Amino acid sequence: MTKTSNPFLLSCFTILICVMNGCEQRKTASSPDQQKLFVYSSRKAHLIQPLFELFQQHTGIRVELITDKAGPLITRLENEQHATPADIFMTVDAGMLWLATQKQLFLPFKSPVLAHNIPAHLRDRHGQWFGLSTRARALVYAKNRVNFPADFRLADLAESEWRNRLCLRTSNSVYNQSLVATMIARHGEEQAAKLLSAWVDNLAVAPFANDTQAIKAVMAGRCDVALVNSYYYGRIQRDYAGDNFPLAIFWPDQAQGQSGVHINISGAGITRHAKNVHNAQKLLEWLSEPPAQKLFAELNMEFPVNSQAPQSLVVNSWGNFRADTTHLEVAGQLQPAAIKTMDRAGWK
Ligand code: FE
Repeated sequence: MTKTSNPFLLSCFTILICVMNGCEQRKTASSPDQQKLFVYSSRKAHLIQPLFELFQQHTGIRVELITDKAGPLITRLENEQHATPADIFMTVDAGMLWLATQKQLFLPFKSPVLAHNIPAHLRDRHGQWFGLSTRARALVYAKNRVNFPADFRLADLAESEWRNRLCLRTSNSVYNQSLVATMIARHGEEQAAKLLSAWVDNLAVAPFANDTQAIKAVMAGRCDVALVNSYYYGRIQRDYAGDNFPLAIFWPDQAQGQSGVHINISGAGITRHAKNVHNAQKLLEWLSEPPAQKLFAELNMEFPVNSQAPQSLVVNSWGNFRADTTHLEVAGQLQPAAIKTMDRAGWK
């Protein structure tokens, strides 16, 4: 368990959330020793620990956290069954949340608060998991070498003018698998395979192990455009020391009739064998309210799922876009087809 937080920021957010949610509630909460919650999370500790600390200050409920990759956490929940200490499972990809539903690891429940705060396509139909932030897969490009028309689609990267100009992350990334799953839902496997194999033909270099490397390759002139999650762009933009930042972000598929930008979610659900169901529901509902939503998204330069929560200034500076509203269960249902299709296309 790692605890990371900026004490100054934390106290500012505490005051903000206290003011917005009503500080009186703290006084009526039971003592922290009698109230706790256990969370398994593949979202990194430094991106959620500040929220859990605020939740404890606000409600008296202490949150214990174990972080690992989603796969090992799912295996752990399967092995532990009734013996699991976990009340909540949190992860950073819709496909993984769907996989957990297939293994019956979640406890379905109804919450009018969550139904109100989270759009329907970003949560499970049966109340097993709920999106808490969205992350957009966008195009990062070299400003001096690329000029996208406003109606540019991801599919247009298949054109020959992009030969030796494209950078991608490897096909074993769940982010790419979820994206391809939605492409298959829209176009079918045949057409998706054709399109992806044209992308592969246009690669400037072999696929990278992560999005950051793909963005740095654009910056180094090895390729002109990379398909990545926008928060990785945000980190590189933040850490850039020079005057003229050479990259920009583009939101594809924005014209009328086009799909909108592919998004994925960070999300969570209550585990089937949770011991603290009431507190777990309380935490998820609290995380869906605007003050917590603002911080949840801001910590990783993502987008709140609750439309009442503001985006950070940095994220705002990237401009507005229309997101794809395909239900994210598709990312899980079509994940095996996505892996097969990427393999067929020769996407390493
Ligand atoms: Fe990521």
